[in-house]
Amino acid sequence: MERRRQQTMRNTIEWLVGPANKPLQQLQLSLMVIAAIYMWVTAFFNLYFGIGYILFSYGMMLLAIVTTGFWYLGRWRNICYVATVCVLALLIVMLLPAIYLANGGINGPALLYALVVMTYCYGVLKQGSIEKIVLMTLSITIPIPLMVLEYQQPSAVYLYSSTSVKMLDLWVSFFLCASLLISIVAGHVRRFKQELYRARRLTVELERRARLDGLTNIYNHKAIFEYARAMMARHTPMSVIIFDLDYFKQINDTYGHPFGDDVLVEFSRVLSESGAGEVGRIGGEEFMLICENDSSVVLERVLFTLKATWQRVDLEHHPITFSAGVAVRKPADTLETLWQRADEALYLAKHSGRNQWRVAA
Ligand code: GH3
Ligand code: MG
Ligand code: MG
Repeated sequence: MERRRQQTMRNTIEWLVGPANKPLQQLQLSLMVIAAIYMWVTAFFNLYFGIGYILFSYGMMLLAIVTTGFWYLGRWRNICYVATVCVLALLIVMLLPAIYLANGGINGPALLYALVVMTYCYGVLKQGSIEKIVLMTLSITIPIPLMVLEYQQPSAVYLYSSTSVKMLDLWVSFFLCASLLISIVAGHVRRFKQELYRARRLTVELERRARLDGLTNIYNHKAIFEYARAMMARHTPMSVIIFDLDYFKQINDTYGHPFGDDVLVEFSRVLSESGAGEVGRIGGEEFMLICENDSSVVLERVLFTLKATWQRVDLEHHPITFSAGVAVRKPADTLETLWQRADEALYLAKHSGRNQWRVAA
């Protein structure tokens, strides 16, 4: 029951001010909704209690209709920003003087109202835009000639018929202005939270991508070395295997670079799906596998399995072979000495005819 009520509430709000993933549009439309409500309420309130000139109440009703029309254009005709500028202009140029003259002058709610409209201009109009500068300046300056007029000709301003009517009017105005202010602040907080969430998500994604090789989607040079360094610090059994595809330049030259890229992607996939350890691309067609193992029997088995799997991969032009150099970690090793020994073993494998591996002494 409670959930259905909340859902109805959400649907109504969305119908009025648009979806939650567009907080700026929501803010702009809520201005129109609240302004329209304000105008309808003020018009009927003034008519009912006999506040102000009768013309003011009818004028207010006209403004309410126009504002509702702008809300319709903003919500359903996709011209939200233009509609917002028009409504703000209407509020500042027409409504502000009307309220000032018809509702108690300087003793009425006009200045409170000017403050809220100005805050709204600041919050929803484009930074540094001409419309923002003009409308904010107008909302500050329009009360000045009105005050001069009231000072020189007090009869130009319609005063309240009684203190209680004045208090009621001030309170209703205060309430509506407070609703507008709250909707501005809430809209900004919501926008800020959404932006923060987006920024955090993007940061995580960027960090992830900064560690991956762009072509093969496995660890890049930096990331695999970081991983290896962290493993070295743990003093657990460990080996490094360096793989290099044989005659890869020739493969590129014969079948083209795109095919070469496919081979790199497939070879990376085979290495990472082997589950033998963490794998990274450390150069063009060179890969590093870090195994949490120092048993040469296990490592040989890993390499046999990899070779068999690689031979079974369905490539357009096969067979393509690889050579590998294996180095098992010794207590005195640094990552550099370990890597160097694996590299020397790879060099030996290459010079012994390729398509084979060597384990460093
Ligand atoms: P060896 O058996 O001695 O390793 O010979 P090789 O031809 O594989 O080695 P070499 O170092 O002479 O050539 C490596 C080639 O790898 C040269 C380069 O065009 C190719 N290569 C490097 N990065 C990429 C890449 O991202 N995509 C493709 N398609 N080719 C690449
Ligand atoms: Mg190479
Ligand atoms: Mg090669």
